[in-house]
Amino acid sequence: MEPFDLHIIGCGSANPTGRHRPACQVLSTRGKNFMIDCGEGSQTRFARMGLSMKRVGHIFISHAHADHCLGLPGLVCTMSLLGRTAQLHIHGPQELEPFMQTALATFCPNLEFQVTFHTVDTRQHQLIFEDRSLEVWSLPLRHRVPCCGYLFREKPGQRHIRRDMIDMYEIPVSQINNIKAGMDWTLPDGTLVPNERLTTPPTPIRSYAYCSDTAPQPSLPAIIEGVDLLFHEATFDQDNEFRARQTFHSTTLEAAQVARDARVGRLCIGHYSSRMDDEQKMLREAQSIFPNTVLAAEGLTLNI
Ligand SMILES: [Zn+2]
Ligand SMILES: [Zn+2]
Repeated sequence: MEPFDLHIIGCGSANPTGRHRPACQVLSTRGKNFMIDCGEGSQTRFARMGLSMKRVGHIFISHAHADHCLGLPGLVCTMSLLGRTAQLHIHGPQELEPFMQTALATFCPNLEFQVTFHTVDTRQHQLIFEDRSLEVWSLPLRHRVPCCGYLFREKPGQRHIRRDMIDMYEIPVSQINNIKAGMDWTLPDGTLVPNERLTTPPTPIRSYAYCSDTAPQPSLPAIIEGVDLLFHEATFDQDNEFRARQTFHSTTLEAAQVARDARVGRLCIGHYSSRMDDEQKMLREAQSIFPNTVLAAEGLTLNI
């Protein structure tokens, strides 16, 4: 099975601490690295985790807060120094584009590759990118500025051929793609061989939802229902619920409630406030509602 791995580059929040770095993640699948948010200094840890910058073709930014996007200009400049020629696509809210245009014009005016900005309407849940095997959907979130999460979902694959059956019924190679697509086969004597006898079911699809930063968002569970892995911010523990309300963030229990209501496979919490110094307590709080919860940490890779 192709890998579908989430790498945590940074899982802190706006106030710098020695414990965590600003938000950045990479979803690696089929030889591509999809970057999600790019806080200051993300490229340094990115390189340290052995991830290839060449394989980053698309970057998805949740919102125009420094801890989620200030790493972009430096990253693009480094890509230029490394001799990149391939187009780079940046998806994000419209507030981000003027910042990036100014930063790139100032710091890397002679780029040898094209940087294309795609505006994401953060109020809509809609398909914003797809390739042969993957779809990316926006997830409207509730924050102090326009903000959205991203849902990555594999497209259903084709059924798998049973080589022994293909040989037994002497099905020509020219028909293999039709059989994979679900076609039955008719023998010379008119007998129908159902497709289920010739193939096995396609590999189950996998999905990942990234939700940061946000206050509790009632519309969220329905649109991420059943994802294999959910990253949901838990900036504060439950004792600091009042701070979460002031800053449009979530607590551990609120993140876990989303995971429970959406019936996800696994929950990863992070985007820790600099005020939080007992992450095990945060984990216990989340697990009291959703047991299959893990703490995000720099350098952590989660296989989906
Ligand atoms: Zn943030
Ligand atoms: Zn924010």
